[in-house]
Amino acid sequence: CGIIGIVGKEEVADRLVDGLKRMEYRGYDSAGVCTVHDGELVRRRAPGKLVNLVRELARDPAPGTSGIAHTRWATHGAPTAANAHPHATAVLALVHNGIIENFRQLKEALAARGRVFESDTDTEVVAHLVSEQVEAGMSPEEAVKATLPQLRGAFALAIAFKDHPGMLIGARLGSPLVLGFGDGETYLGSDALALAPLTQKIAYLDEGDWVVITRQGAQVYDKDNNPAEREVTTSGASA
Ligand code: GLU
Repeated sequence: CGIIGIVGKEEVADRLVDGLKRMEYRGYDSAGVCTVHDGELVRRRAPGKLVNLVRELARDPAPGTSGIAHTRWATHGAPTAANAHPHATAVLALVHNGIIENFRQLKEALAARGRVFESDTDTEVVAHLVSEQVEAGMSPEEAVKATLPQLRGAFALAIAFKDHPGMLIGARLGSPLVLGFGDGETYLGSDALALAPLTQKIAYLDEGDWVVITRQGAQVYDKDNNPAEREVTTSGASA
Protein backbone atom coordinates (compact mmCIF):
# COMPACT_ATOMS: atom_id res chain seq x y z
CA CYS A 1 0.00 0.00 0.00
CA GLY A 2 1.47 3.22 -1.21
CA ILE A 3 0.52 6.56 -2.69
CA ILE A 4 2.36 8.87 -5.03
CA GLY A 5 1.24 12.08 -6.72
CA ILE A 6 3.03 14.47 -9.08
CA VAL A 7 2.15 17.94 -10.33
CA GLY A 8 4.85 18.27 -12.93
CA LYS A 9 6.21 19.86 -16.03
CA GLU A 10 6.96 16.58 -17.80
CA GLU A 11 5.01 13.35 -18.41
CA VAL A 12 4.23 11.54 -15.16
CA ALA A 13 2.95 8.00 -15.87
CA ASP A 14 6.37 6.29 -15.90
CA ARG A 15 7.53 8.25 -12.88
CA LEU A 16 4.38 7.36 -10.95
CA VAL A 17 4.90 3.66 -11.67
CA ASP A 18 8.54 3.99 -10.65
CA GLY A 19 7.39 5.44 -7.32
CA LEU A 20 5.01 2.50 -6.85
CA LYS A 21 7.90 0.07 -7.52
CA ARG A 22 9.86 1.69 -4.72
CA MET A 23 6.96 0.96 -2.34
CA GLU A 24 6.46 -2.68 -3.39
CA TYR A 25 8.19 -3.81 -0.20
CA ARG A 26 5.09 -2.64 1.72
CA GLY A 27 3.00 -5.33 0.00
CA TYR A 28 -0.01 -4.88 -2.31
CA ASP A 29 -2.57 -6.81 -4.35
CA SER A 30 -3.43 -4.36 -7.17
CA ALA A 31 -2.35 -1.01 -8.55
CA GLY A 32 -3.53 1.94 -10.58
CA VAL A 33 -2.72 5.32 -12.07
CA CYS A 34 -4.79 8.35 -13.07
CA THR A 35 -3.46 11.35 -14.97
CA VAL A 36 -5.22 14.57 -15.91
CA HIS A 37 -4.89 15.26 -19.62
CA ASP A 38 -6.78 17.55 -22.00
CA GLY A 39 -9.63 18.05 -19.53
CA GLU A 40 -10.04 14.30 -18.95
CA LEU A 41 -9.15 11.88 -16.16
CA VAL A 42 -7.12 9.07 -17.73
CA ARG A 43 -7.27 6.02 -15.47
CA ARG A 44 -5.53 2.61 -15.76
CA ARG A 45 -5.82 -0.14 -13.14
CA ALA A 46 -4.81 -3.79 -12.84
CA PRO A 47 -5.03 -6.54 -10.21
CA GLY A 48 -1.88 -8.39 -9.18
CA LYS A 49 1.71 -7.35 -9.68
CA LEU A 50 2.82 -3.98 -11.05
CA VAL A 51 3.88 -5.65 -14.27
CA ASN A 52 0.17 -6.00 -15.08
CA LEU A 53 -0.32 -2.25 -14.74
CA VAL A 54 2.81 -1.61 -16.79
CA ARG A 55 1.40 -3.87 -19.53
CA GLU A 56 -1.93 -2.03 -19.38
CA LEU A 57 -0.13 1.31 -19.74
CA ALA A 58 1.92 0.01 -22.67
CA ARG A 59 -1.29 -1.00 -24.44
CA ASP A 60 -3.15 2.14 -23.47
CA PRO A 61 -0.85 4.98 -22.32
CA ALA A 62 -1.85 7.63 -19.77
CA PRO A 63 -0.42 10.93 -21.01
CA GLY A 64 -0.31 14.03 -18.81
CA THR A 65 1.97 16.06 -16.56
CA SER A 66 0.04 15.54 -13.36
CA GLY A 67 -1.43 12.47 -11.75
CA ILE A 68 -1.81 10.08 -8.83
CA ALA A 69 -1.02 6.40 -8.34
CA HIS A 70 -1.63 3.69 -5.75
CA THR A 71 -0.75 0.21 -4.64
CA ARG A 72 -3.64 -1.37 -2.76
CA TRP A 73 -3.69 -3.72 0.20
CA ALA A 74 -7.39 -4.57 0.22
CA THR A 75 -9.30 -4.13 3.47
CA HIS A 76 -12.86 -3.88 2.06
CA GLY A 77 -13.65 -5.45 -1.31
CA ALA A 78 -11.80 -8.20 -3.19
CA PRO A 79 -8.53 -7.41 -4.99
CA THR A 80 -10.12 -6.88 -8.42
CA ALA A 81 -9.60 -4.21 -11.09
CA ALA A 82 -12.93 -2.61 -10.16
CA ASN A 83 -11.86 -2.26 -6.53
CA ALA A 84 -8.35 -1.03 -7.41
CA HIS A 85 -7.66 2.65 -6.87
CA PRO A 86 -7.86 5.37 -8.17
CA HIS A 87 -11.62 5.60 -7.67
CA ALA A 88 -13.15 8.11 -10.04
CA THR A 89 -16.32 10.13 -10.49
CA ALA A 90 -17.27 12.61 -13.20
CA VAL A 91 -15.12 15.28 -11.55
CA LEU A 92 -12.22 13.65 -9.69
CA ALA A 93 -10.03 10.63 -9.06
CA LEU A 94 -8.86 9.61 -5.60
CA VAL A 95 -6.43 7.19 -3.95
CA HIS A 96 -6.52 6.13 -0.31
CA ASN A 97 -4.43 4.13 2.11
CA GLY A 98 -6.09 3.17 5.37
CA ILE A 99 -9.65 2.39 6.41
CA ILE A 100 -12.77 4.58 6.51
CA GLU A 101 -14.46 3.02 9.54
CA ASN A 102 -17.84 4.70 9.05
CA PHE A 103 -18.10 3.98 5.33
CA ARG A 104 -21.31 1.90 5.57
CA GLN A 105 -23.25 4.75 7.08
CA LEU A 106 -21.78 7.27 4.61
CA LYS A 107 -22.48 4.93 1.69
CA GLU A 108 -26.12 4.50 2.69
CA ALA A 109 -26.61 8.25 2.89
CA LEU A 110 -24.86 8.83 -0.44
CA ALA A 111 -26.89 6.08 -2.15
CA ALA A 112 -30.08 7.62 -0.75
CA ARG A 113 -29.03 10.86 -2.44
CA GLY A 114 -28.69 8.99 -5.74
CA ARG A 115 -24.94 8.40 -5.91
CA VAL A 116 -24.04 5.23 -7.80
CA PHE A 117 -21.10 3.11 -6.59
CA GLU A 118 -18.74 1.13 -8.82
CA SER A 119 -16.72 -0.70 -6.16
CA ASP A 120 -17.02 -2.57 -2.85
CA THR A 121 -14.35 -0.45 -1.18
CA ASP A 122 -14.66 1.79 1.85
CA THR A 123 -12.67 4.36 -0.13
CA GLU A 124 -15.25 5.16 -2.77
CA VAL A 125 -17.44 7.08 -0.28
CA VAL A 126 -14.71 9.71 0.01
CA ALA A 127 -14.65 10.20 -3.77
CA HIS A 128 -18.42 10.72 -3.76
CA LEU A 129 -18.49 13.04 -0.75
CA VAL A 130 -15.94 15.40 -2.31
CA SER A 131 -17.59 15.10 -5.74
CA GLU A 132 -21.03 16.05 -4.42
CA GLN A 133 -19.63 19.35 -3.16
CA VAL A 134 -17.62 20.05 -6.33
CA GLU A 135 -20.67 19.29 -8.48
CA ALA A 136 -22.66 21.70 -6.29
CA GLY A 137 -20.17 24.45 -7.21
CA MET A 138 -17.62 24.35 -4.39
CA SER A 139 -13.91 24.73 -5.08
CA PRO A 140 -11.81 21.58 -4.61
CA GLU A 141 -10.33 23.10 -1.44
CA GLU A 142 -13.75 23.87 0.06
CA ALA A 143 -15.05 20.44 -0.93
CA VAL A 144 -12.17 18.63 0.79
CA LYS A 145 -12.48 20.86 3.84
CA ALA A 146 -16.20 19.99 4.09
CA THR A 147 -15.54 16.24 3.69
CA LEU A 148 -12.62 15.48 6.03
CA PRO A 149 -14.55 16.00 9.30
CA GLN A 150 -17.07 13.36 8.19
CA LEU A 151 -14.43 10.60 7.98
CA ARG A 152 -13.63 8.22 10.85
CA GLY A 153 -10.69 5.89 10.75
CA ALA A 154 -7.29 6.24 9.14
CA PHE A 155 -6.39 7.75 5.83
CA ALA A 156 -3.77 9.11 3.53
CA LEU A 157 -5.50 10.58 0.48
CA ALA A 158 -4.47 12.11 -2.83
CA ILE A 159 -7.09 13.63 -5.14
CA ALA A 160 -6.83 14.81 -8.76
CA PHE A 161 -9.54 17.05 -10.21
CA LYS A 162 -10.65 16.87 -13.85
CA ASP A 163 -11.01 20.63 -14.21
CA HIS A 164 -7.88 21.56 -12.22
CA PRO A 165 -4.98 19.83 -13.98
CA GLY A 166 -2.29 21.87 -12.19
CA MET A 167 -3.14 20.84 -8.64
CA LEU A 168 -3.59 17.89 -6.33
CA ILE A 169 -4.99 17.78 -2.81
CA GLY A 170 -3.59 15.46 -0.15
CA ALA A 171 -4.67 14.71 3.43
CA ARG A 172 -3.52 12.47 6.24
CA LEU A 173 -4.79 11.12 9.53
CA GLY A 174 -3.28 7.96 10.94
CA SER A 175 -1.53 6.99 7.69
CA PRO A 176 1.70 8.53 6.44
CA LEU A 177 1.99 11.18 3.68
CA VAL A 178 4.97 13.36 2.80
CA LEU A 179 5.50 16.33 0.50
CA GLY A 180 8.38 16.61 -1.95
CA PHE A 181 9.66 19.75 -3.66
CA GLY A 182 11.32 19.67 -7.07
CA ASP A 183 12.34 22.21 -9.67
CA GLY A 184 8.96 23.50 -10.88
CA GLU A 185 7.32 20.28 -9.66
CA THR A 186 5.70 19.20 -6.40
CA TYR A 187 5.06 15.69 -5.10
CA LEU A 188 3.07 13.66 -2.61
CA GLY A 189 4.18 10.25 -1.41
CA SER A 190 3.70 7.70 1.34
CA ASP A 191 7.39 8.02 2.19
CA ALA A 192 10.61 9.78 1.23
CA LEU A 193 11.89 6.60 -0.42
CA ALA A 194 9.11 6.70 -3.03
CA LEU A 195 10.13 10.25 -3.95
CA ALA A 196 13.90 9.69 -3.79
CA PRO A 197 14.50 9.70 -7.58
CA LEU A 198 12.47 12.93 -7.86
CA THR A 199 13.73 15.01 -4.94
CA GLN A 200 15.52 14.93 -1.60
CA LYS A 201 13.59 17.95 -0.33
CA ILE A 202 10.85 16.51 1.87
CA ALA A 203 8.32 17.85 4.39
CA TYR A 204 6.37 15.56 6.72
CA LEU A 205 2.68 16.32 7.18
CA ASP A 206 1.30 16.33 10.73
CA GLU A 207 -1.73 14.34 11.84
CA GLY A 208 -4.90 15.95 10.46
CA ASP A 209 -3.06 18.08 7.89
CA TRP A 210 -4.33 18.57 4.37
CA VAL A 211 -2.45 20.20 1.53
CA VAL A 212 -2.90 21.76 -1.90
CA ILE A 213 0.06 21.20 -4.20
CA THR A 214 0.77 23.01 -7.47
CA ARG A 215 3.92 23.33 -9.60
CA GLN A 216 4.77 26.40 -7.50
CA GLY A 217 4.77 24.53 -4.19
CA ALA A 218 2.44 23.51 -1.40
CA GLN A 219 -0.05 25.15 0.95
CA VAL A 220 -0.56 23.10 4.09
CA TYR A 221 -3.57 23.46 6.40
CA ASP A 222 -3.69 21.97 9.87
CA LYS A 223 -6.56 19.96 11.38
CA ASP A 224 -8.37 23.22 12.24
CA ASN A 225 -7.96 24.46 8.65
CA ASN A 226 -5.42 27.11 9.63
CA PRO A 227 -2.59 27.68 7.11
CA ALA A 228 0.49 25.90 8.45
CA GLU A 229 4.20 25.62 7.65
CA ARG A 230 5.96 22.26 7.76
CA GLU A 231 9.73 22.12 7.92
CA VAL A 232 11.48 21.09 4.69
CA THR A 233 14.34 18.67 5.29
CA THR A 234 16.85 17.14 2.93
CA SER A 235 16.26 13.41 3.30
CA GLY A 236 19.13 11.00 3.43
CA ALA A 237 17.35 8.56 1.10
CA SER A 238 19.36 8.11 -2.08
CA ALA A 239 18.02 7.49 -5.54
N1 GLU B 1 -9.32 0.40 2.56
C1 GLU B 1 -8.97 0.68 1.21
C2 GLU B 1 -9.36 -0.48 0.30
O1 GLU B 1 -9.57 -1.56 0.73
C3 GLU B 1 -7.50 1.06 1.04
C4 GLU B 1 -6.55 -0.09 1.31
C5 GLU B 1 -5.07 0.34 1.28
O2 GLU B 1 -4.60 0.96 2.26
O3 GLU B 1 -4.39 0.07 0.26
O4 GLU B 1 -9.48 -0.29 -0.87
